[in-house]
Amino acid sequence: MDDCVLRIESVTKKFPGVIALKDAHLQIKRGEVHAVCGENGAGKSTLMKIIAGAQGYTSGHIYLDGEEVFFHSTKEAEKHGIAMIYQEFNMVPELSVAENMYLGRLPMKGGGRVDFGKLYKDAEEIINRLKLHINIRTKVKHLSVAEAQMTEIAKCLTIGAKIIIMDEPTAALTDEEIKVLFEIIEDLKKKGISILYISHRMDEIFQIADRLTVFRDGSYIETKEIKDTNYAEVVSLMVGRSLESLYPERDYQGSEVVFEAKDIHGKGVNGVSIELRKGEILGIAGLLGSGTIELSKMIYGAIPMKSGEILVHGKRIDNSSPNKAIQAGIGFVSDDRKNEGLVLNRSIKENIVLSSLKKFSSGFRINKRKEQNAVQNEVERLNIKLSSPMQLAGRLSGGNQQKVVFAKVLEADTDILILDEPTRGVDVGAKAEIYNIMDQMTKEGKSIILISTDLPEVIGMSDRVVIMREGYRVLELSKEELSQEKILAYESGGIES
Ligand code: ADP
Ligand code: MG
Repeated sequence: MDDCVLRIESVTKKFPGVIALKDAHLQIKRGEVHAVCGENGAGKSTLMKIIAGAQGYTSGHIYLDGEEVFFHSTKEAEKHGIAMIYQEFNMVPELSVAENMYLGRLPMKGGGRVDFGKLYKDAEEIINRLKLHINIRTKVKHLSVAEAQMTEIAKCLTIGAKIIIMDEPTAALTDEEIKVLFEIIEDLKKKGISILYISHRMDEIFQIADRLTVFRDGSYIETKEIKDTNYAEVVSLMVGRSLESLYPERDYQGSEVVFEAKDIHGKGVNGVSIELRKGEILGIAGLLGSGTIELSKMIYGAIPMKSGEILVHGKRIDNSSPNKAIQAGIGFVSDDRKNEGLVLNRSIKENIVLSSLKKFSSGFRINKRKEQNAVQNEVERLNIKLSSPMQLAGRLSGGNQQKVVFAKVLEADTDILILDEPTRGVDVGAKAEIYNIMDQMTKEGKSIILISTDLPEVIGMSDRVVIMREGYRVLELSKEELSQEKILAYESGGIES
């Protein structure tokens, strides 16, 4: 008999304008931990959601124990023994651990009442089987992230799962908690349960997985036994494509320091210092949880720092709020466009002039003509596709929304720009335009800090790269030293620096 519990054949998933999966294959053996690897956007989460019944597919076949199956909901997938632990948990905070474990399947006794005696007994048994120390009567809202995750795993056991999908399960866990998770995974394996494991962290994959499959741009690339491969090979399978043409030829020469962050401490950031030179693009690379985003938000005042100082042109500035940071000459494009970048129910024009109203007013009056000209210039310069500047920002495509954010930042006339994931959710055409805008801005004397988890972008755009891991600055690479293999290896702790 076939030792594959799950076989995915030729699965294709099209979204409007994007093919997330092209003819994807995957074979999962009974009782194995199978890592699914690929860069951002490779299609990993989409494939996992399809397997778990949370997402439909355009074409293809899924076989479970040799029989073709079609899931129209996660409930149906669960009935067949497939459960997924989502990156965002989906439990009811007000209910207890036990109630969440049996949600929708609570044991009942006469009169439509829940049989709490049986519920607690069953829940307790599963918690003990996993050797967890969680009080099953505690409300889920009082659990730590790790405990909530363990509860989700316990829930998978209550439905008798034979395949458990974990999408980046360690992203929010401490080292100690990861150890516990890995012990549980080993235990599940022994019970014949298969684990589909998504992680960006190469060290984890090599520690816990038996086999791995690499996807790239929605396509199946290769399946490998862990013992027959190594970090470098997996990384090159993941990134093997050329995107050079997307990026402008940089000709940064090196110039005076215009910005310094000195010994920044705060939540998730441990004593990081950086300096930025005029006209330079400094890349800051790190995996989820490495502290890169926290560092940038501390610099532009969106989250508080505990200690450290920020200097612009050698002078210490007040960065206690984003507005103060802007006044001191630091502009930013947040990774959270919808909450920190754009007011979606305001017009494009209003958004563009938002941080620079002073410039357009004399006394109490706003100079409408001046404002209009500025908006028109930005729309042309950035090639923003709109029907009218009065159109609501929320109606634009992702790429055009991001260009409006850039227009707003440019109008604020700050010399130092911090860009958090500036091309996330943006299609390739708009990406290339944004890269050109960045290049242009530095030629005009602005300096950029680029925070990105998109490695080709970091390498294609940066004149220098600082790598962070677990809140620390671990290494700096010059342009000549940059390679995806190197960055990934340092980010994931594969190479000790
Ligand atoms: P990964 O998990 O490997 O980072 P995803 O499966 O999330 O990749 O995404 C694969 C591709 O599909 C990406 O280009 C992404 O933008 C696109 N995509 C994912 N979900 C949706 C969606 N609901 N609508 C449109 N496009 C999507
Ligand atoms: Mg994903």
